[in-house]
Amino acid sequence: MRISEVKSTTREQRIASHTHIKGLGLRDDGRAHAQADGFVGQDSAREACGILVDLIKSKKMAGRALLLTGAPGTGKTAIALAISQELGPKVPFCPMVGSEVYSSEVKKTEVLMENFRRAIGLRIKETKEVYEGEVTELTPEEIENPLGGYGKTLAHVIIGLKTVKGTKQLKLDPSIFESIQKERVTVGDVIYVEANTGAVKRVGRSDAYATEFDLEAEEYVPLPKGEVHKKKEVVQDVSLHDLDIANARPQGGQDIMSMMGQLMKPKKTEITDKLRKEINKVVNKYIDQGIAELVPGVLFIDEVHLLDIECFTYLNKALESPISPIVIFATNRGMCQIRGTEDIIAPHGIPIDLLDRILIIRTLPYTQEDIKAIVQIRAKIEGLTLTDDVLNDMAVTGEKTSLRYVIQLLTPASILARTHGREQILLEDIKEVDELFYDAKASALTLTKYHSSYVP
Ligand code: ATP
Repeated sequence: MRISEVKSTTREQRIASHTHIKGLGLRDDGRAHAQADGFVGQDSAREACGILVDLIKSKKMAGRALLLTGAPGTGKTAIALAISQELGPKVPFCPMVGSEVYSSEVKKTEVLMENFRRAIGLRIKETKEVYEGEVTELTPEEIENPLGGYGKTLAHVIIGLKTVKGTKQLKLDPSIFESIQKERVTVGDVIYVEANTGAVKRVGRSDAYATEFDLEAEEYVPLPKGEVHKKKEVVQDVSLHDLDIANARPQGGQDIMSMMGQLMKPKKTEITDKLRKEINKVVNKYIDQGIAELVPGVLFIDEVHLLDIECFTYLNKALESPISPIVIFATNRGMCQIRGTEDIIAPHGIPIDLLDRILIIRTLPYTQEDIKAIVQIRAKIEGLTLTDDVLNDMAVTGEKTSLRYVIQLLTPASILARTHGREQILLEDIKEVDELFYDAKASALTLTKYHSSYVP
C-alpha cells in the first residue's frame, strides 16, 4: 500500500473566506468608497491603509510593521489581504496565527523564519524554448468533459497543436497532468509547451476557433525534444520558501527552478540555515544579473499576543533585514503580560521596543447595515439566496455576537434548507442553526453562569 503525503489546506482555508476581497476599495484621492473591491465600511482603517500602501510603494515605510487592533471579526485579516493586493499583482500574502510557533518538533524562530520566507516573492524571468500554438483536438475523454475532466486513468494526454509550421500531434508525459488540469486546456486555446519539460501553459484563446474535430486521430508522436519552435520570456513567481523546498527535495530538470534545486547535494530533506544562505547567494546573483526581482509581500500574524519574548526579539531583528516583508500584526488584546516574561505588562502584550517601530490602525465594530452588506456579498459568492427577513435577522445577531459568527451560520443554514428541499435559506433555518451553535460571547456567559458545574 502506498501512503501518499497529505497536504495541509489550513493556509488556503484561512484565505478562502476572503475571496471577495480584491483591494482596499479607495478612490483616487485616497478616500474610501462606501462599498468597493468587496469591502464595506471600516472607512478610516482602509484610508489609513491606503496611505501605508503609498509609503511602502515609495519605500518610505521605515518600520515595515503594522498593528491592527480591534475586536474579533472586524475584518483585520481582510484588511491585511487587501494591502497585499494593493501592493501589486502576485505579491505574496502569508497568514499565520501566533500560536503556530509552538510545536514540539520545530523551534519557534524556525516557524517564524519559514513564514517570513513564504512572504518574500521572487519574480524570475526566463527565456524558455517553447512550442506555441492553438489546440485543435482533444481525446474523446476530454471532449466528454472539457472542463478539467482529465482523469488520472488516462495514460497520456494527447493534444493536437496547430503551430505556424503545421499541425502537430503531441503526446505529453503523464507527469504534466497537474499542469494540464490547472490550465484547463480545451479546444481553441492557445497554449505553449515547454521544449524540455513538456509542461503546458495556456496563454489565450484563438479567434478562429473551430468546433469540428476529428476523433479518429491517427498516430500520436511523442513531443520532439530539442526542436525549438520559439523562444519565449516566461515569468515565474515563487517564494523564497518554495526555493527552500525545491532545494531540500531536488527533482531535476533544466529550468532555473530545477537548477536552483540542484545546487545542493541531492536527497536533502531538511531546510537548514546553511541551505537558506546558499539560496540567498544564488538569488542575489540572479537579482544582480537582472534575471530575478524581489517582491516583498505581507506576513500577517494574527493573535500576536500569543507570541513570546523570544519570538519578539527574533522579529525585531528580522524586520531590520533589507529583504523583510511587511509584517502586519493583529490583536484584540489591550494591556497584557508579554508571554515568556515573569511580570512585564505591555500594550497588546508586545514589547515596547518593537511597538515603537509599528504603526497602529484600529478596526471598529460593524453597524447592522455593514453586516447586512457583507453577509450579502458572502452569500452571493457562495451561491446562496437569502430573504430580506433573514438578512435583517443576521444583522441583528451579528451586531450582538460578531460578523464572523453570522457568516459562519450561512453554510449550515444552507445545508438545512437543502435537507428541507429548498434552495433558499429561510428565517427558520437561520434560527435553527443559531440555536444549535454558541457564539463566543454566549459561550463565555454560560461558563460564567454555570461555572460550578464544570471541571475547574
Ligand atoms: P478578524 O481578523 O478581525 O478577526 P477577519 O478579517 O479574520 O477578522 P472575519 O472578521 O472573520 O475576518 O470576517 C468574516 C468575513 O467577513 C470574512 O469573510 C471577511 O472577509 C469578511 N469581512 C470582514 N470585514 C469586511 C469588510 N469590511 N468588508 C467586506 N467583508 C468583510
